Amino acid sequence: MADDLAELRHALHREPEIGHDLPRTQRKVLDALAGLPLEVSTGEKLTSVTAVLRGGQPGPVVLLRGDMDALPVTEATGEPFASRTDGVMHACGHDLHTTMLAGAARLLSARQPQLPGSVIFMFQPAEEGGAGARFMIDEGVLDAAGERPAAAYGMHVLSGMLDRGVFAARPGPALAASDALNVTVRGRGGHASRPHVSADPIPAACEMVIALQALVTRKFDVFDPVVVTVGSIHAGTARNVIPDEASFSATARPYSSEARTRLRDETLRLVRNIAHGHGLTVEAEYAEGYPVTVNDAAEAAFATATAADVFGSDRTTTLAHPLTGSEDFSFVLEQVPGAFVMLGACPAGTDPLTAPSNHSAVARFDDAVLPDGAALYAELALRRMARRVGDAPISTVTAPVA
Ligand SMILES: [Zn+2]
Ligand SMILES: [Zn+2]
Repeated sequence: MADDLAELRHALHREPEIGHDLPRTQRKVLDALAGLPLEVSTGEKLTSVTAVLRGGQPGPVVLLRGDMDALPVTEATGEPFASRTDGVMHACGHDLHTTMLAGAARLLSARQPQLPGSVIFMFQPAEEGGAGARFMIDEGVLDAAGERPAAAYGMHVLSGMLDRGVFAARPGPALAASDALNVTVRGRGGHASRPHVSADPIPAACEMVIALQALVTRKFDVFDPVVVTVGSIHAGTARNVIPDEASFSATARPYSSEARTRLRDETLRLVRNIAHGHGLTVEAEYAEGYPVTVNDAAEAAFATATAADVFGSDRTTTLAHPLTGSEDFSFVLEQVPGAFVMLGACPAGTDPLTAPSNHSAVARFDDAVLPDGAALYAELALRRMARRVGDAPISTVTAPVA
């Protein structure tokens, strides 16, 4: 399938689309699935594709997810299949995810009569900030096969960091949450020479910024860390005028659900109490972005062991730390135990430690990983469905397709 997969990936890459509405990408996915024994449905609020493969034997449901959207980046890779749309590029490798998932659908469809269970293929738009996974959950992807999945797996290619062809996972947190703290302190403006008859919001806002850093070091375990960075602060128009209000906003990055809940509660309490201590009012919100992506420990171990069994232990590794980005597959993993697996995809001959990272205009991903990614998706579904007491093991997808 390697040539077919490379061809599909190049077609997706040439015509990248952003956000929830990816009609040309959706068309290519539907074409790639045509003729397979799948129940295919498409999204209402977004151009998602959900395909269900019902195996010939009874068994559990497994969900496999691949995202489909691109980024607002002007491609500068010089690849022969580079984007033909100005300002839009598959810079995060989602064209590979879509392709690998379509490949897995083909591999598993060829074994439909023997499959002990069902597989949901989740082709998802709008990963890059649009929470497409949440939209698909709202539209019922988790119930597409009639019962909740027993497990869910996602994969992500990396243009650097990992050696090409190496699969990596870890138990527990895999990626950070990405939240925002927005604060407006309100006082009463006046003449800067008469602060005692005004209510100055600026010193209180400054105190909050410093106190937030003390909060990070005094209230959070160094082994379950959080990052709070105030990246924007605004107040006032002239040095001799006390303004009515001062505002700032911060990015907040917790790496566990527990730390996230505490970070929300503690930051809001802190800024409110500082404001009240000065007789000021405050409007503060902790806006949640994507949750922490948390791998189920057993499913992460299973995914790593499966990759090691199929491709060799030299091609698998356990990540020492979570990655600092965030992922909306986290919404799926909040409801279904599963694992998110990284796959090194830097081009042959490049050093992963210096190769441009995902989201770069010169990020390149090697087609060579496509068959292995498709095989791992399929293998994870096969083995997870077959994992029942008393079942005989069934042949793996690395055997020739009958
Ligand atoms: Zn990305
Ligand atoms: Zn991505």
